[in-house]
Amino acid sequence: MSDSQNELLQDYKDNLLGVFGDPALVLTEGQGVYVTDANGKRYLDLLGGIAVNSIGYAHPDWVAAVSEQAGKLAHISNLFTSPQGISLAHQLLELTDAPEGSHVFFANSGSEANEAAFKLARRHGAARPGPDGAARTRVLALENAFHGRTMGSLALTAKEAYRAPFEPLPGGVTHIPASIEALEAELDDTVSALIVEPVQGESGVHVLPDGFLARARELTREHGALLIVDEVQSGIGRTGQWLATTAQLPEGVFPDAITLAKGLGGGFPIGAMITVGTEVSSLLTAGQHGTTFGGNPLATAAASATLDVIKDEGLLGNADVVGAHLAAALNDLPEVREVRQHGLLIGIDLVQDSPEQALAPAVVTAARAAGFIINATGPSTVRLAPPLIITAQETDSFVASLPGIIRDARAALAGS
Ligand code: PMP
Repeated sequence: MSDSQNELLQDYKDNLLGVFGDPALVLTEGQGVYVTDANGKRYLDLLGGIAVNSIGYAHPDWVAAVSEQAGKLAHISNLFTSPQGISLAHQLLELTDAPEGSHVFFANSGSEANEAAFKLARRHGAARPGPDGAARTRVLALENAFHGRTMGSLALTAKEAYRAPFEPLPGGVTHIPASIEALEAELDDTVSALIVEPVQGESGVHVLPDGFLARARELTREHGALLIVDEVQSGIGRTGQWLATTAQLPEGVFPDAITLAKGLGGGFPIGAMITVGTEVSSLLTAGQHGTTFGGNPLATAAASATLDVIKDEGLLGNADVVGAHLAAALNDLPEVREVRQHGLLIGIDLVQDSPEQALAPAVVTAARAAGFIINATGPSTVRLAPPLIITAQETDSFVASLPGIIRDARAALAGS
């Protein structure tokens, strides 16, 4: 039997820079919550393109919106705008309930949305000098934070292995523990901004401690610093609400900027930054930032269709209900040590045989053999971020298979 997949993977190795790590599969098709590889094998995708394919693959409304827009007007550059970009901005401001005077900036990825937020922080630092009269250049980010891998967003990302090969990074960033005490100790009048993920996805799905974000809002206000929330992974319904921030701040209280990407385009590359209120929205002025592609009609039409589907099909509620069902079932497995569930963003800590054992990566491989796509965020942690359309029956098939998958992973580790 011919193995198209291995031939293509070899071809990839020979011609593409595998800087993200070598791909595990060549995928050729996606429908709903399933993807198919180059050998025709089908998988239940519990990772959803890393929290991107919020409405599943090839949703008919999304396909129709993208096809129609592609035939009408695909790209115009940032010298012009289109009704699609304007209409998406309205949708985003409405669903986030952003106060009067808020604005939207479109980028092409999460990293780019955070680059814009970093530049916003620099402008704010210049507009609100510190006690010595000089521009504030300090930015606080959290330990274990992930904000992207472009130079600015990498400076905000905590992981040393990602940072070290690329020093020097843009300066002024201090990483602090996600505790109210650390925040109170570090946040002073020299800080231009604090950036946080309401739920840290890449670190293994860790929500901010109770009261942290509300206290951060108070302290940033008190000291004249911006509060930026990175909802690239947690936003657009992933945690069962349009924004995870909503559950962590008192009603009517907002951060100063919100970054989005991933699930927003339903598979189309798009990022966004919402600047909250008039004052913050006036920090970046004409000519100071932009990209050629940002906000193009095709990407914004795809995102609009995605938001409509999430709303029309009640997917926020589905994320809550199916997420809770899946977490309860996982919690019943003796192989599982802890489950952290926020809608359909789920971190699973597995019981390891020893602290050194890299069980999670082996489980990812064994899951693939069994027809499930998941990923590992650490030696004992697996993450799930399936399309928000997934059903309880579909997640049940994974939970039923998981003990066998873990057994296979243990056997593979023992044999290696
Ligand atoms: N911020 C967060 C919270 C993320 O999870 C990610 C991606 N994992 C990024 C930023 C970077 O987004 P992108 O890969 O689209 O540049």
